Amino acid sequence: TDTNRQCSCENKLARTQGPGTLNINKPVHIHQGYMQWLWDTDGRRYLDLFAGVATVSVGHCHPKVTAAAEKQLRRLWHTTSIYMYPTVHEYTDKLAALLPDPLKVVYLVNSGSEANDLAMLMARVHTGNFDIITLRGSYHGGSPLATGLTSNSAYKFPVASGFGCHNTMCPDVFRGPWGGRHCRDSPVQTVRNCSCSQDHCQANEMYIDQLKEMFATTVPNRIAAFFGEPIQGVGGAVQYPKNFLKETYKLVRERGGLCIADEVQTGFGRTGSHFWGFQGHGVLPDMVTMAKGIANGFPMAAVVTTQEIARSFAKGVHFNTFGGNPVACAIASSVLDTIKEDGSQHISANIGTYLLHELAKLREKYEIVGDVRGKGLMIGVEMVKNKASQEPLPPQDLGEIFEDTKDMGVLIGKGGLYGQTFRIKPPMCITKADADFFLAVFNRALQNYME
Ligand code: PMP
Repeated sequence: TDTNRQCSCENKLARTQGPGTLNINKPVHIHQGYMQWLWDTDGRRYLDLFAGVATVSVGHCHPKVTAAAEKQLRRLWHTTSIYMYPTVHEYTDKLAALLPDPLKVVYLVNSGSEANDLAMLMARVHTGNFDIITLRGSYHGGSPLATGLTSNSAYKFPVASGFGCHNTMCPDVFRGPWGGRHCRDSPVQTVRNCSCSQDHCQANEMYIDQLKEMFATTVPNRIAAFFGEPIQGVGGAVQYPKNFLKETYKLVRERGGLCIADEVQTGFGRTGSHFWGFQGHGVLPDMVTMAKGIANGFPMAAVVTTQEIARSFAKGVHFNTFGGNPVACAIASSVLDTIKEDGSQHISANIGTYLLHELAKLREKYEIVGDVRGKGLMIGVEMVKNKASQEPLPPQDLGEIFEDTKDMGVLIGKGGLYGQTFRIKPPMCITKADADFFLAVFNRALQNYME
């Protein structure tokens, strides 16, 4: 096909999914999974470094999680939240205990988009304000409201995407292939996206000036909320400079807005250093939305907020048929236990650091590797035509490397505003040997492309 968003092959699975469904050029038909491994219908094995978009947190069909699901499936499948059952309380207590005060009230829903829709509604109800701020490069979901929050126009449908949402208001702040590069080593004009931890980072000062200018000139005096991913996921593992989120939260709160951390990708230990991505920025959100890794691939999501916001919201009735489903709660509860018992966050930190270090060597070796960035097992490798121009590598060229990597038995993801970034977000059970296998395969795929 001419794009990587639509599959027109003769395969029944692809045909019945409908055009426009996100797919890859030559889809792999997966039959089975175990931990970091997947097998296709022909019995070929793949190392899964994308985890169904950072979703399979502890491993495909993890035995402990599977056992918890089986146990609950024999006991109770569904009642709706009209009736109470112990699994839901056990789970919400366990989840709330992992969040700092005053974030202690949990609402359970079924997807990241639903969680962000709900958070948006709660913010508007609580503040009485309407406008929402998001950032360039952000992805917050595929529902009509959440596509409004999302910045990437590829996901927007002209007549249907949300409203009252000032995205892309931060011009050019998070764009460019040089993200993550240490600002002291770079001339100012190439520093567009620095993730260094210097207090006086030039890039940070530049972004914050832009942000203040934006708030002074474009943003209304009263706003409902700011949504921000602690690290942009679909945007291509884009990181913010130190203090950027802190400053943003301050400016948002000065205008009466709530600060919402979209932890759909960054939560549950994926960033390695912290359980929640926001903790890496020294901020305390008013609401946290989460999904994906929460239940290792079973549909489940949550909004966690404060008593005060929950009380405002209780003036109306919110109902969700599947939210807090007993099986989902049993699985999610077992995922939390497993993250602890298997040391998943620790693996994320260690293997993530190793991968970032080794991938940086490939950046030095290949002209087309423009940037390597991320944190823990949330890594982006940004591809460029060459380092001098910094122009994104065209999607078809990226696709060539992607297919080659897949043919050699490793599944990775793609993303970035221009589709120029490879994304590596494996289940948090991979080993150093897996990382080495990937590095060898990726190196070979880059070599093949250059020849
Ligand atoms: N927020 C973020 C940060 C995401 O990455 C995604 C999904 N890619 C969503 C929200 C939407 O989640 P879902 O696809 O479960 O609706």
